[in-house]
Amino acid sequence: MKAEILSVGTELLLGEIVDTNAAFLASELAQLGIDLHFVSQVGDNRARLAETIGRAFQRADIVIITGGLGPTEDDLTREAISDALGEEMVVQPDLAETLKEMFRKFGREMPPSNIKQATLIPSAQVLPNPIGTAPGWWVERDGHIIIAMPGVPHEMKRMWAEQALPRLQVAAHTGVIATRTLKTIGIGESHAEEAVRPLIRSTNPTLATYAKPDGVHLRMAAKAPDRETALRMLDELEAKVRELIGPYIYGVDNETPSEAVGKLLKARGLSVATMESCSGGLLASMITDTPGSSAYFRGGIIAYTAEMKISFGVDPAVIERVGTVDRETALAMARAARERLGADIGLATTGVAGPDAIEGKPVGTLHVALDFHGKTLADGRQVSTTRTEFKRRAAMDALFLLWKALKES
Ligand code: ATP
Ligand code: MG
Repeated sequence: MKAEILSVGTELLLGEIVDTNAAFLASELAQLGIDLHFVSQVGDNRARLAETIGRAFQRADIVIITGGLGPTEDDLTREAISDALGEEMVVQPDLAETLKEMFRKFGREMPPSNIKQATLIPSAQVLPNPIGTAPGWWVERDGHIIIAMPGVPHEMKRMWAEQALPRLQVAAHTGVIATRTLKTIGIGESHAEEAVRPLIRSTNPTLATYAKPDGVHLRMAAKAPDRETALRMLDELEAKVRELIGPYIYGVDNETPSEAVGKLLKARGLSVATMESCSGGLLASMITDTPGSSAYFRGGIIAYTAEMKISFGVDPAVIERVGTVDRETALAMARAARERLGADIGLATTGVAGPDAIEGKPVGTLHVALDFHGKTLADGRQVSTTRTEFKRRAAMDALFLLWKALKES
């Protein structure tokens, strides 16, 4: 099987966006063992698009297209596929009804231009889009397949995983590949890899480590004739991995640190409040990303300067002694947050995000701390990065400190 990827959109050719869709699909194809021969980017031009699709259709067994499925005049992927194949687009009444219903749900009338999203050509089947208005197309003709999906990456990925991939596995007889990611924290990539080394040599299922912004990921993939077998292989491998580094695993697949922490807080019936200096509210923002966080989040304070910290209850003697950026300051902030906002746990960040040093402390100094009814925990490190990334790491370090404390409580 030979595949070809086409990314559609003038934005790509102007360098305004990077073609992450093609990179994602290329890696998916590689995992399926399907050879990818060409990746092209085409602007929103009907003739050039039709020509590119026609050529891809001739030389590849599978053509995967993303973008250009929207309702506007420069969304031309459907038109170009029908031009290339010489088939006519016909409005499907059931699709049109579904689309109108979707607009009704949001209290809007469907604009007339959207009707083209309810069309098919005779060789096409619809790939439903549960999170957007543009359905995809699955086209099969003369032993060749065209898959057309939306350009918006999260819509495309979901359509790929739920609709396109299962059909492709059947059509291409690739067998089924199931994957699962175990997310860890508190262990570096080389240590994680060393700990699971005996398992990494296996070729099916496979295990690989990746250092990511939210910790080291252990990605498992199993290939089998059917899904049940593949999942069983993943279960067995997961059990072995957990035996080796179980205490470091905080989540599986899409689970975020904020969700992992939320789960533990709920299970233990505990609440948390924050006082943030260098993370500027990002920690509170991350905590509240998780639905249901109002049950355990008591509020957040942003306090940069010594005066601000003191006005929110930080002991002035501590600031006098060690300044605004210190492990002890972080601990005093955590305690003040807990007391001021009436939570079981106070969580704090303080640091030097840059570009200038503060009170003689170098850029990149970072302290996070936690106060749990007087039981305290603190962590500190030196991080050299951009200001934005520094804020993110500060918030993440604080979340993981909380996770560790909850795990052990
Ligand atoms: P919509 O219905 O939202 O218009 P569409 O299928 O028409 O979807 P496009 O209009 O081509 O898709 O792209 C929508 C947005 O998705 C782009 O503005 C861009 O942000 C993102 N996008 C499109 N193609 C890619 C790509 N190849 N890689 C990464 N992002 C992309
Ligand atoms: Mg569009």
